[in-house]
Amino acid sequence: MPELPDVETFKRYLDATSLHQRISSVDVRSAYVLKGVSARELARRLKGRSFESSRRHGKHLFVRADGDLWLRLHFGMTGSLQYFKREERAARRTRVLFAFANGHRLAFEDQRKFGEVGLLKDIDEFLKKRGLGPDVLDMSRSQFKEIFRKHRGAVKTILLNQKLIAGIGNIYADEILFRARIHPATQVSALEEEIVAKLFRAARDILKKAIEAKADMDRMPKSWLLPHRGRGGKCPRCGRELKSATIGGRTAWFCTPCQRRTS
Ligand SMILES: [Zn+2]
Repeated sequence: MPELPDVETFKRYLDATSLHQRISSVDVRSAYVLKGVSARELARRLKGRSFESSRRHGKHLFVRADGDLWLRLHFGMTGSLQYFKREERAARRTRVLFAFANGHRLAFEDQRKFGEVGLLKDIDEFLKKRGLGPDVLDMSRSQFKEIFRKHRGAVKTILLNQKLIAGIGNIYADEILFRARIHPATQVSALEEEIVAKLFRAARDILKKAIEAKADMDRMPKSWLLPHRGRGGKCPRCGRELKSATIGGRTAWFCTPCQRRTS
């Protein structure tokens, strides 16, 4: 499932390939991904414009077209972007295809069909309506600490709550907690201030490194939980078998000796 590092990688890919070129057509191949806009309207409003810049917030990507119109992309479970020459065939999982005047095309691909494509006038209004919290990489340490001071529950549940902190998904929440050596079920009220500061540093560090690795699982450090998580996986720190549990409705992977539970 695309998480923040994946979406940031899509953003950089789009910035490097698809900006400043006139959009000659928009071909919607599966209208179910469209949210609040029809295929005809999407094509009509984007045709003749070009994408000028982009902005990521949590797992959402917004692409600004000239004339102050924003295309909204959410990658659901399996979404991704692909830029290629007109002669090449679009993949079957292509849901929306943007053709540029330079002869290249950008495909919004999505095998499982949980992705979303929409149009917006105002990003901040959209974020407010969705009730999304600040992006984890845009937060200050004091903002982060404030959330942990004000809310109750398991630390992993707080990390995953997009209304409090936008951008952390299941896999990276486990990785961040492993780095900070905190058991995912630890109650937030039991975390001392310096532990929360450590958690903040771990979140930034893990997400930035994952972005550097282009969110490619094969390029993640062997000292991380990610290459080992799953049944029979061993902790890269102490070599003991990793454990799993359902916390906040999601499967958490962790190492019991390395990640102590304080309460
Ligand atoms: Zn361990």
